[in-house]
Amino acid sequence: MDDPRKNLFYEPKNGYDRISREEHIAAEDYCRGYMEYLNDSRTEREAVVNAIKLAREKGFVEYVPGMALTPGMKLYSCNRGKALMLAVIGQRSLADGVVIAGAHVDAPRLDLKQIPMYESDELCYFRTHYYGGIKKYQWVTIPLELHGVVVLKSGETVDVRIGREPGEPRFVITDLLPHLAKDQMKKPMTEAITGEALNILIGSVPYDDDGKDRVKLAVMSILNDMYGIGEEDFLSAELTAVPAFDVCEVGLDRSLIGGYGHDDRVCAYAELKAILDVENPVRTCVCILADKEETGSDGVSGMQSRAFDTFMEDLCASQNVEVRRCFEKSFCLSADVTAAFDPLYPEVSEKRSESKLNYGMGICKFTGARGKSGTSDASAEVVAYLRRLFDKAGVVWQLSEMGKVDQGGGGTIALYMANRNIDTIDAGVPVLSMHAPFELVAKLDCYMTYKGVLAAYSDD
Ligand code: MN
Ligand code: MN
Repeated sequence: MDDPRKNLFYEPKNGYDRISREEHIAAEDYCRGYMEYLNDSRTEREAVVNAIKLAREKGFVEYVPGMALTPGMKLYSCNRGKALMLAVIGQRSLADGVVIAGAHVDAPRLDLKQIPMYESDELCYFRTHYYGGIKKYQWVTIPLELHGVVVLKSGETVDVRIGREPGEPRFVITDLLPHLAKDQMKKPMTEAITGEALNILIGSVPYDDDGKDRVKLAVMSILNDMYGIGEEDFLSAELTAVPAFDVCEVGLDRSLIGGYGHDDRVCAYAELKAILDVENPVRTCVCILADKEETGSDGVSGMQSRAFDTFMEDLCASQNVEVRRCFEKSFCLSADVTAAFDPLYPEVSEKRSESKLNYGMGICKFTGARGKSGTSDASAEVVAYLRRLFDKAGVVWQLSEMGKVDQGGGGTIALYMANRNIDTIDAGVPVLSMHAPFELVAKLDCYMTYKGVLAAYSDD
């Protein structure tokens, strides 16, 4: 007789026991593209530029308000170089709603302060103010690169990128040697390395004169030679230090990908690739690469910005549809990473509810903290829709909750989409060492997230 457990119990299975050899190869192929994208996308601006490049290669054109829309049209709209919206116009009217996938392309990092440069004891430094949630001790003694823009008083923008190319210099924040760290080692981790101590070493050779701040002057001269900037130009700059690790395969079986910024470029790439691959969808597909998620989605380029509503209002207007009618029939996959169960730290997890590496795309019915505060909490109906959709499309997926009750928590862009009266649910790639300078994801989960978004875009 058949074991009745087979029908009555929910027993998730490892993705590798569920996928074919062909699919394994497809996953490898997909991940090569992702690794290349991530390696070259170190800031939200670079992630947007690289996304536009890929979109244009696939026939996407820049949207101009008032454009007549025809089914199959591929459009993009860039919001101030920091966020991106793409759309493929469907066969059905926008009055029937759209399918949205939204991810964010900003990631935790060390922003330079607006008056960042100083000299101390004949060494020159940049002061920083960290962006997003970081464990500060992880950011010392690792190689850093410098990325960003300096906007001159004239309005001209100078792109800065130092340390990405082989042979270019890199930067570092020093830490105390263990021999002299007796007092530091007794401090709690939150105090051992403070935010104000995250100062980046950028030079040590003095300028050849007998004035003051000779090292700072020498370093400033180098920057002036390279970019034509002076110290005052930092006031209107957005410069950021990010980890200089190359994206690479991890593990003897090469099943994992290590790199900086998986959160959330791993989901951003998945939905980007999905919208590039979708052909003649029934409903209009919309892909959002948002900025500012790590600081609460505020600001013109964050998901709370009206920029998204304006884009959708413009699309709707060309079909004489009211955007609120479109929104109430729309569906949004908030594609963001989730915490994977870490066997080294089982104490923070409730194993049955946590997502696991290689178990596929992680669906989070709710996020938030302290009694589900700050979550949009997708309805059972929406979860059921996704189960049906993913199972039909052969997507390997799992349910996911971040940590034990009251252990902590987190948010995504989901609530800002749901607040617009759009049925929204979180789903994405499980990550180990989330928000660390070197995060880890599993190839199988990356590919399944792409497949999941493509299934949503392809649904009728
Ligand atoms: Mn995220
Ligand atoms: Mn995050």
